[in-house]
Amino acid sequence: MTNRKLGYLAAAVIAGNVSLVLAQQAPMPQAPAPQAAPAAPAPPPDVKIETVAIAPGIYMLVGRGGNIGLTVGVDGAAIIDDQFADMVPKIRSAVALLSDKPVHFVINTHLHGDHTGGNDAFGAAGAVIIAHENVRKRLGTAYVNPSNNQNVPARAREALPVVTFADSATLHFNDDDLEFTHLPNAHTETDIVVRFRKANVLHMGDCFTGGFPFIDANTGGTLDGLILGHEKVLATIDDDTKVIRGHGPLGNKAELKAYHDMLVVVRDRVAKLVKAGKTQEQVVEARPTKEFEEKFGGTNFNAAQWIGRAYVDQKAALEKRRRK
Ligand SMILES: [Zn+2]
Repeated sequence: MTNRKLGYLAAAVIAGNVSLVLAQQAPMPQAPAPQAAPAAPAPPPDVKIETVAIAPGIYMLVGRGGNIGLTVGVDGAAIIDDQFADMVPKIRSAVALLSDKPVHFVINTHLHGDHTGGNDAFGAAGAVIIAHENVRKRLGTAYVNPSNNQNVPARAREALPVVTFADSATLHFNDDDLEFTHLPNAHTETDIVVRFRKANVLHMGDCFTGGFPFIDANTGGTLDGLILGHEKVLATIDDDTKVIRGHGPLGNKAELKAYHDMLVVVRDRVAKLVKAGKTQEQVVEARPTKEFEEKFGGTNFNAAQWIGRAYVDQKAALEKRRRK
């Protein structure tokens, strides 16, 4: 750990019912030689960062990849998620318009490459990367993607989170308390949500988007876990909370509640059909998403794709319950 990193850690008090792990003290999983961030398609030349003011000193940066949360103030700058590697210069420029200090902390909401692609560059420049412990475990380990049998190499050392936790942690920064809460087996098994306690702003990562959710079963995501996660979050926010989606426009509690309610309706319908022994084709044909397709179908996965995933998910959930 560089002196600069230690300085930042000393400046911030991170606490909670957590096991904090400093990377240099933890044994690394056996990983092959460091590799670059996952390849991403070349950005179209007109990709710009749009900066949306949310609260004093708090912004949402919209570019290519997941929405970034940004806090600037007396302690400097911190970002929640960092899109793709090739967006880093643009992210830096957007931050520089608001702060004359570099990015001190990068918080990853989960492991996906459109939220962690900038880790290599920010980590190498001295930012302290904070994430759920499963982000470090998974990004630090090479694996074979079961969807396409492709080898996915471990991420470079600089890209790995150096502060990790299991359930929750708090970062005291820019006169606010940033509370990190793990949502187990939701979009993935690596998700956290970030709440600015004083400003009443919440970053949901990909546990809340503008379209039908992507449940990444390959990295431990489950529909039931996502719904439970929403319930946990909804109990802690109010009508004034500004909610940053992983993808999509700035939202609020009512919209998160509507999203949750939609998932419950679809989940229950799919579960019932699975229990009745219907095949995946029959479940897709029954269109359990019917009345939600206009609102949620266009921005992420189409309904048939999503029902297919929900079918596999609920079949696994049913088998798990039967085994118990
Ligand atoms: Zn994601």
